[in-house]
Amino acid sequence: MLDKLQAQPADALLALIKLHAADERDDKIDLGVGVYRTADGATPVFAAIKQAEQAMVDSQDSKAYLGPEGDMGFVNALMPYVFGDDATMGGRIQGMQTPGGTGAVRLAAALAARAGVTRVFMGTPSWPNHKQILDDVGLEFAGFPHALEDGTANLDGVLNAIRNGREDDAVLLHACCHNPTGIDYTPEQWDAIAEALSDSPVLPIIDIAYQGLGVGLEEDAAGLRNVLAKVPEALVAYSCDKNFGLYRDRVGAFYMMASDRGQLDTIVSNANALARANWSMPPDHGGAAVRTVLRDEGLTRVWEDELADMRARVRRVRERLAAADNKAPGLGLSALAHQHGLFAMLPLNREQIEALRRDHGVYMAGSGRINVAGLTEANTPKFIAALADVTG
Ligand code: PMP
Repeated sequence: MLDKLQAQPADALLALIKLHAADERDDKIDLGVGVYRTADGATPVFAAIKQAEQAMVDSQDSKAYLGPEGDMGFVNALMPYVFGDDATMGGRIQGMQTPGGTGAVRLAAALAARAGVTRVFMGTPSWPNHKQILDDVGLEFAGFPHALEDGTANLDGVLNAIRNGREDDAVLLHACCHNPTGIDYTPEQWDAIAEALSDSPVLPIIDIAYQGLGVGLEEDAAGLRNVLAKVPEALVAYSCDKNFGLYRDRVGAFYMMASDRGQLDTIVSNANALARANWSMPPDHGGAAVRTVLRDEGLTRVWEDELADMRARVRRVRERLAAADNKAPGLGLSALAHQHGLFAMLPLNREQIEALRRDHGVYMAGSGRINVAGLTEANTPKFIAALADVTG
């Protein structure tokens, strides 16, 4: 029976980690895997999380099961950050904890399918797991180009999808720090998207995996809030794995907004049933740590300051790259200053990406995506020189 299975390609980014680890050059540069790095190349545990974890060790008196919804203290504490002051939109939003943002995207897709959605519009390129999840859930995927040549977002693409969409369609949007392009919708573009969705049967599914790593905690949620204020229903997938540095602890939340509060229990009961069938309940530790941070004013300040430092560093790297535009012309580096988050796409071909690795020890995804947080003041000149070499 099992011999009928066909081999699947290895995850390209994980393969890249191994190649990078085996490279003995001291000045190698890792721009592959999508984690934040300090100026020293580290991905440390947040100080706020360390303190929260210490408090948990001292105070936690049971690890008995919770339920498919996980730690509701965590889920609710996060809501004002995501949705703003009226965090439940008059009792129309409820959430549940998920294993990472991936679990939340998975629930969003599965719940949408259960509700009758058959097709999902999405700008491409996107985080590769989006399509894998849609495929696995049996949803048809309809792509449109996300980016324009000048490094800005293709508003017409998303508006056409929304305006021509049918009852059984959804659209999957990145709230901020678009992965892999770094190209976000401007506030004005979000206005147009929200307006179009208000007049369309297409269900919005919004993935927010990098809140606070773009412009600011509030700014990064503004587009999402704009849409939610104008539509009857929406699904939101949230990840705390980047903005709390909890990656392997798998911390996410899935929120459902119903057209009226009377509908909400039914919707949530379906999400619970799906969670039960997928993972029964989410891992507790990371969500409990986030709850502990967000319920403590002092720890919240420590967390927000750490996040602000990360955001400022990412911005500095982007500005440094943009300033080097003339040294590696044709790559559109100047646009990076106006883009957000950890990622950017460089228009490099397979040979150039291979040459960067072989000749210069620069590791990046085969798609041309770079994690800008892999760059420092010290290694940026080498990276620019390497780009000039392979493109010149
Ligand atoms: N959505 C997007 C756009 C992402 O980039 C990621 C992480 N790479 C996720 C969701 C999922 O994050 P997590 O690690 O929390 O599952």
